[in-house]
Amino acid sequence: MMRHCNSVFQAQDIWYLLDTEDKTDRKLYIANCPICNKRMALYSYLDIKGNFYFEKYFYSGGADKIKKRLKKDVTATMLGFRDKYKAPSGFKYGKNVEVKRKGKTVEIKQYACDFNGNRILVKRIERV
Ligand SMILES: [Zn+2]
Repeated sequence: MMRHCNSVFQAQDIWYLLDTEDKTDRKLYIANCPICNKRMALYSYLDIKGNFYFEKYFYSGGADKIKKRLKKDVTATMLGFRDKYKAPSGFKYGKNVEVKRKGKTVEIKQYACDFNGNRILVKRIERV
């Protein structure tokens, strides 16, 4: 979900991005605001060290720039996936997120996700 002009709306595309050393679950949500038609991108990821979600909006030229910067890290896109597999929009996929503390995996969270950016925690596996 994205926000602008006091309204909340769905992304028109979502890019799923490669993990980096300290970031996982990286996504770029892309849309034009349905009210003002501004080009927007929402960059979000889980910061592994801090164990928090980072979210930042980019607009117009900034949105173009972050798309250019992250393009090389794209593993899948919502639109590309739908085109390729003709999956219905309710399609679900599984995702594991490792939670690390001091470089050690302490927990694995298993999520069921859909391509609207919604997800449900299915299972937590703690590692001691
Ligand atoms: Zn707007």
